[in-house]
Amino acid sequence: MTALVVSDLHIDAAWPEIGEQFIAFLEGEARGAEALYVLGDLFEAWIGDDDDNPHRRGVVAALRRLSASGVELYFQHGNRDFLYGSRFECDTGGLLLADPVIVSRHGKRALFAHGDALCTDDVPYQRLRALVRDPPWQRAFLGLGRATRQLLADEARSGSRAHTAQQQTMLMDVNPATVEALLRAAGVDTLVHGHTHRPGVHALSIDGRACTRIVTGDWYTQGSVLCWDNAGLRLETRPR
Ligand code: MN
Repeated sequence: MTALVVSDLHIDAAWPEIGEQFIAFLEGEARGAEALYVLGDLFEAWIGDDDDNPHRRGVVAALRRLSASGVELYFQHGNRDFLYGSRFECDTGGLLLADPVIVSRHGKRALFAHGDALCTDDVPYQRLRALVRDPPWQRAFLGLGRATRQLLADEARSGSRAHTAQQQTMLMDVNPATVEALLRAAGVDTLVHGHTHRPGVHALSIDGRACTRIVTGDWYTQGSVLCWDNAGLRLETRPR
């Protein structure tokens, strides 16, 4: 059996083909898996677990059907959908994981993370991340009406686009020293993350140990799926 890992789908009604491909994936390939991990940014925005956007609810329902079929389902928060809570877990039948988290499968351990916390060169973003991950800030935000929250999410999205366009490309990638420190502290040799939209498999050496950093890709033009079975971890694409 295979565990599948995806991230950065950025599902939104404005580009429905991503949601369609993902639902087809949930109803096809994922049904044959033992587990599916979604490492953040499943949705372009998530305004709280009472989010009633029909496009997003359709994906939640498809996730529920997958977990009901017996496939283990796990999530991490992304920088877009950092507001999942316990009702999201109930509605999908999935489990929210910490970020980072060590996952053991097939006699091997790997560290899973969304990846935004590794981009430590982007100081303004890290400041924003600390703010929106703060429980009192989240309580205040979730206390606003749904329409207001959607408006603020739309504004944050344009702000984020402007910031990304402005930053040097290098600053938007993971910081190598942060990656090393994380793998050293966790005592594992494999890190899997998304967020940067730069899919790839990178070899690195930490204290003489051969380590691997695997980056799952976004779903803008095709699917990106990491398959983990007895043979190891393979990063693959799924044409649309
Ligand atoms: Mn992200």
